[in-house]
Amino acid sequence: MDIQGSISYKYFFLADPYRLVLDMLEVDFRLNPILQKPIGGVLGYRFGLLEPGISRVVIDLSKPFLVEKAFIIKPGIKPESRLVLDLVRTTRTNFLSNVKKSRIQKEIELKNLILAKPKAASGQKSKIKSVQNKTSKSKIIVLDPGHGGVDPGAIGRRGTYEKKIVLMAAKTIKKILVQTGRYEVVMTRKSDQFIALRKRVAIARRAQADLFISLHADSIKNGAVRGATVYTLSENASDKEAAQLAERENKADLISGIDLNAESQEVTDILIDLIQRETMNQSAVFAGAVVQELTRKIKTHRRPHKFAGFAVLKALDIPSILLEMGYLSNIADENLLNTESFQEKLAFALLQGLDQYFFKGQSFRN
Ligand code: ZN
Repeated sequence: MDIQGSISYKYFFLADPYRLVLDMLEVDFRLNPILQKPIGGVLGYRFGLLEPGISRVVIDLSKPFLVEKAFIIKPGIKPESRLVLDLVRTTRTNFLSNVKKSRIQKEIELKNLILAKPKAASGQKSKIKSVQNKTSKSKIIVLDPGHGGVDPGAIGRRGTYEKKIVLMAAKTIKKILVQTGRYEVVMTRKSDQFIALRKRVAIARRAQADLFISLHADSIKNGAVRGATVYTLSENASDKEAAQLAERENKADLISGIDLNAESQEVTDILIDLIQRETMNQSAVFAGAVVQELTRKIKTHRRPHKFAGFAVLKALDIPSILLEMGYLSNIADENLLNTESFQEKLAFALLQGLDQYFFKGQSFRN
């Protein structure tokens, strides 16, 4: 890679599939978005912003490799420095032991993040508190636009990126909710940035959210299927489609290179213990209210409320839903999702669902 400015980087490997992950100081990528055909052991790559200040490149490898040499060639005639990683074949056993070494450090960081309890004196909390005092009834809603950065999510028939459409929708929803004065909105991301699933959860807990709403727009093989669907958490998926969807959405961390599946089982178990049945019941009640409003305002899936094991809903002791706004694999849905009027309809449906859930029986002029 030719890089302008100072180069500071680190790399590590991930298994199944074999990947090389390269993190560096934030850069403005000028890379071709798609590798036209595989080169050597490289099958393809993805890149994007991991978090402010850090860019990430994930390289898919056909076989286990290790870095034999890593070095920087200083600028000569051209102003760029060249970062060179020489890859050589290795055994799977060797590769896996390298992966394990780099993972241990990450695990420790992750546990600290998740298990850290919100501190009473933290700046963020006191900010929210003071807002709460002003409008005593206002509820804190966390909006979670799915995917972002290196993880584009689904890609529509006409090239719409899920990560973009969900961020747009979240901004529209935020505007409409905040206008009422009844809701405070915290977003898990405000830009095209990668946020690990567990971090989204941590943000919601830190904000002491009353409700968590994750926004998505899926893509499936059957291009005829369309409409919005509301998902709540369950270990047993309500059908095969729901199970496959949860599996795809849960891969977000895998795409970015942060592997949380098997390794973090222990952490997951602790958190699941914390979840009370009440949370799931409350989520289902809220989902019911939203589905009712959505069905009135927009096209919904033939079974608009489903259950599946989404990682982003799992660790929450806050009532939460995952809203698939429509299918990017359906051209009619893709076109609709791109319009402001549709996003507003969706926002008003959510608002009425929220009002129903939090302030039953009261009527508001919206
Ligand atoms: Zn998604």
